[in-house]
Amino acid sequence: MIRRFLYNFFRGRNGFDQLAMVFWAASLAFLLLSLLGGTVGAVFYALTIASMVYAWFRALSRNVGRRAQENARFLSATAGIRRRARNLKTRFSQRKDFKFFTCPTCHTLLRVPRGKGKIQITCRKCGNRFSGKT
Ligand SMILES: [Zn+2]
Repeated sequence: MIRRFLYNFFRGRNGFDQLAMVFWAASLAFLLLSLLGGTVGAVFYALTIASMVYAWFRALSRNVGRRAQENARFLSATAGIRRRARNLKTRFSQRKDFKFFTCPTCHTLLRVPRGKGKIQITCRKCGNRFSGKT
């Protein structure tokens, strides 16, 4: 019932893409900051409303092509940051079994098994060789 309603409601609309979700999350952060009160709180409250309005504007927009273009631009602009965040997550979850090195030449993240002592590491991207302790 609700699913059907939502399906019909968002049909032909952009929906919550990554960019809309960022503004949605930002609006919640701004809402918390608005609790500071005073002038600062009022500014954050205004930002809360603005972010929420923009997130909904994106979600409800029927100009799907234009919104997709904006979302793609946002994704490519933040690709570096998102890759680094993903790398950190990987490193953390695999820290017991693997040691991570960054290639001194091309800065690619390299993963080697732990407990092999001092080894030669060959970068899989640029072929640069360097030694590291696992
Ligand atoms: Zn390299």
